[in-house]
Amino acid sequence: MRKDRGSGWFGPFGGRFVPETLIEPLNELEAAYASARRDPKFKAALRSELDTFVGRPTPLTFAGRLSAALGLRVWLKREDLTHTGAHKINNTVGQILLARRMKKKRVIAETGAGQHGVATAAAAARAGLPCVVYMGTDDMARQAPNVARMKMLGATVVPVESGSKTLKDATSEALRAWSSDSRNTFYVLGSALGPHPYPSMVRDFQSVIGVEARAQILKAEGRLPKEVVACVGGGSNSIGIFSAFIKDRGVRLTGVEAGGTGSAPGRHAARFSGGSPGTLHGTYTYLLQDARGQVLPTHSISAGLDYPAVGPEHAELRRIGRAKYANASDKDALKAAHELCRLEGILPALESSHALAYLHKARLKKGELILVNLSGRGDKDLGTLCA
Ligand SMILES: *Cc1c(COP(=O)(O)O)cnc(C)c1O
Repeated sequence: MRKDRGSGWFGPFGGRFVPETLIEPLNELEAAYASARRDPKFKAALRSELDTFVGRPTPLTFAGRLSAALGLRVWLKREDLTHTGAHKINNTVGQILLARRMKKKRVIAETGAGQHGVATAAAAARAGLPCVVYMGTDDMARQAPNVARMKMLGATVVPVESGSKTLKDATSEALRAWSSDSRNTFYVLGSALGPHPYPSMVRDFQSVIGVEARAQILKAEGRLPKEVVACVGGGSNSIGIFSAFIKDRGVRLTGVEAGGTGSAPGRHAARFSGGSPGTLHGTYTYLLQDARGQVLPTHSISAGLDYPAVGPEHAELRRIGRAKYANASDKDALKAAHELCRLEGILPALESSHALAYLHKARLKKGELILVNLSGRGDKDLGTLCA
C-alpha cells in the first residue's frame, strides 16, 4: 500500500491505495491522460466521437406536466438519449481513445447494472479492441437484457460468483485481472471511483453533461437553476453535472443515494447516512463498513446504485458543505419511474428514478427552477418495473 500525497486528493479523500503491482500501471495511465488532455488532436477526436457516435449534445427537456404536479419548473438533462442509453458512454469513449493512444491490445471493465459494460463493449467494438467485462452473477440475473447486449457487441462477460455477487466483487475481479496483465490491458473503470487518476479522469469525461446543461438552461430560462439533482452510485453522472455549477454559489447541488428498504445495515446503499471514512478499491472515501472495517452488504432495487463506496470528490463536496446528499427508497424510486412514464412519456432508469423521487422532497419555492440529470433509460429495468 502506498499513500501518494501528490495529486489525486480531494481534501482528505481520494489517493491511491493499491498493491505495489498497480503503482506503475497507474503512473503510466496518469502520464498518458495528462498528455492526452492537453493534446488538441485528442480533444478533437473525443469531440468527434461525442458528436457523431454518442449523439451529443443531448437535449434539455422541460417536464411540463411533472412541473405542474410539483409546483416547480423541472428540466431534465437527457442522458437517456445517448447511444447505449446512459451517461456511461461519455466516459468509455474517452477512456477507449486513451487505450488506443497507449497502444493497449485489449480492454477490461467491471459492471453493475450492465450499462457500463454495454458502453465499454460498444466503444471497444468500434475501436477494434477485444473486451472482457466482469459482472456479479446476481446482477447478471437482474439485468439480463444488458448481458445479451454485451455479448451481441462482441464482449466476453465473465460471471463473478464471489462475495455479494454484485458490483463490488466485479470491481475487485477487474482490478485483479488488470494487475496480472497491465502491459497489454487497459482497465476502463466505470465511475468517479478507484485509485487516482480515475476519479478525476472520469469526472473530466463526464463534465460534458454539466457544461451542456448549464448553457442550455441559461439559454432556455435566462437564469441558473436553484438546485441541481442527480442520483449517486459511484458518483459519475452527478459529478459530471455538478462540476459545471460548483462555482455558482447560489445553485444547490443534491446527490441522491439508494435508501433501499430501510436504514438497517444491508438494506440500503446510503453511504453518507450509514457510512464512515475508509478505503475500498484504491480510494479513501465514505464507505458502508462495520466497526471492524469489514465492508457491509448493500441493497438497492437499482443495480447501478448498489455499491458500498462513493466517489471521493463527493465525500469532499459534502465535507465542505458544497453539496448535500439525500436518499430515496426503492418504493419511492419505483413510484417516481411510473410517474415520469405517465406524465412525460419518458421511461427512466431505476437509478435516475432516485433523483426524480427526491423532487417530492425538494424544499423550493413555487415556480423555482430545478435541473435533474436523467442519467439513463429504463428499458433494462422493465422486468423489475412490471413485476
Ligand atoms: C451506472 C449508472 C448510475 C450510477 O453510476 P454513477 O457513477 O453514480 O453515475 C446511474 N444511472 C444510470 C442510468 C447508470 O447506468
